[in-house]
Amino acid sequence: MKSIILKPDRERPILRKHPWIFANSIAEVKGDPGLGETIEVLSSNGLWLAYAAFSPHSQIRARIWTWDPSEEVDQNFFANRLEKSIAMREGFFRGKYVTAYREVYAESDRLPGLILDRYGEVRVIQFLFAGVEHWRESIREILAARGDCQAIVERSDVDVRALEGLASRDGFLWGKQPEGLLTIVEHGIQFYVDIFQGHKTGFYLDQRQNHKILRDMLPEGASVLDCFSYTGGFTLNALKANVGEILAIDSSSYALDLTKKNVTLNGLDAGRLKLTEGDVFSELRTLRDRDRKFDVIILDPPKFASTPSHKERAARGYKDINLLAFKLLEAGGTLFTFSCSGGISAEFFQKIISDAALDSGRNASIIRWLGQPEDHPVLLSFPEARYLKGFVCQVTS
Ligand code: SAH
Repeated sequence: MKSIILKPDRERPILRKHPWIFANSIAEVKGDPGLGETIEVLSSNGLWLAYAAFSPHSQIRARIWTWDPSEEVDQNFFANRLEKSIAMREGFFRGKYVTAYREVYAESDRLPGLILDRYGEVRVIQFLFAGVEHWRESIREILAARGDCQAIVERSDVDVRALEGLASRDGFLWGKQPEGLLTIVEHGIQFYVDIFQGHKTGFYLDQRQNHKILRDMLPEGASVLDCFSYTGGFTLNALKANVGEILAIDSSSYALDLTKKNVTLNGLDAGRLKLTEGDVFSELRTLRDRDRKFDVIILDPPKFASTPSHKERAARGYKDINLLAFKLLEAGGTLFTFSCSGGISAEFFQKIISDAALDSGRNASIIRWLGQPEDHPVLLSFPEARYLKGFVCQVTS
């Protein structure tokens, strides 16, 4: 079999079950493996370490499939891994009024680069690494043969594929072509999801738990500001909690239109909701200049830093909006603040929020730490899988 041989002393992360092998750890590639081809990984002194998939263009030159020499990487391998991962989610969500969730979360489910999200009867898939791209047809066949969904749609239209030397791709993969919007249920609330045009695979499934936590914590009659509201994940939960009034801000008119549709779909009181299409950075300044105050503010911005190199710029963005939010809160008010930037650690994010509170002249405490839900697990040997961090901060004075 084709193989890679590591430089001396580079096997330690692999022995600790980290699944990535960087180009600069490799001494020699034997047999000229192609895009996504299975290879053996050997230490500098010839010790067999793992089976991996080769990615000739990426700095992450290989990702490991298995550390077990007796486990063959074939169609059966993928059927087994998919079965385990899907069964785990069924266990989590059966009977919970949740019909949309992540069935496969890549490295954490030991299927590097594969994302599989379920929206009711429809699956949406992303192939983000040369290895899973190589097995695309097998994975499609396995999922089709399960007979537990009506369609599979591909949304491999993401920038990271370029790093793998792969073109962007989306479209219908299998089954009965879904038409128009899908409807999902998240803790009893219905949402329309646009799996073809929506962000990510259509919905921010990673915020499910936090949507519900907001709903459960909101005092009745509260005034709420939902920044970066997308299709209303937090807004709908706030309306369900019987808030007094809510202002939702997003730069996407399409997302705001879907929010309106979602409010109607659930028979909630649209009279309490005001939607503003705009840039949160400037809208927060306008609200400050008008001396507006809110009981609860949600800040759920898009990713500001995907890699540690963007850290400082991202930190300035987070500090800016959080400082403004602290100023807009009533005494006793609550801030739900998030960062989904992989390049910003929870500790660093906490420091940014602390600086923002200080500069705003407010005193505040973290009363709850938030993160990813159970369908976005973090494999212990792969801490990079943790990206979503959130704090619930109570302003005391
Ligand atoms: N809170 C949402 C997810 C937010 S995703 C939920 O729970 O479902 C981030 C959102 O921010 C996207 O909808 C995007 O359109 C919006 N956005 C990005 N940059 C923005 C900006 N500068 N001002 C306002 N909205 C922005």
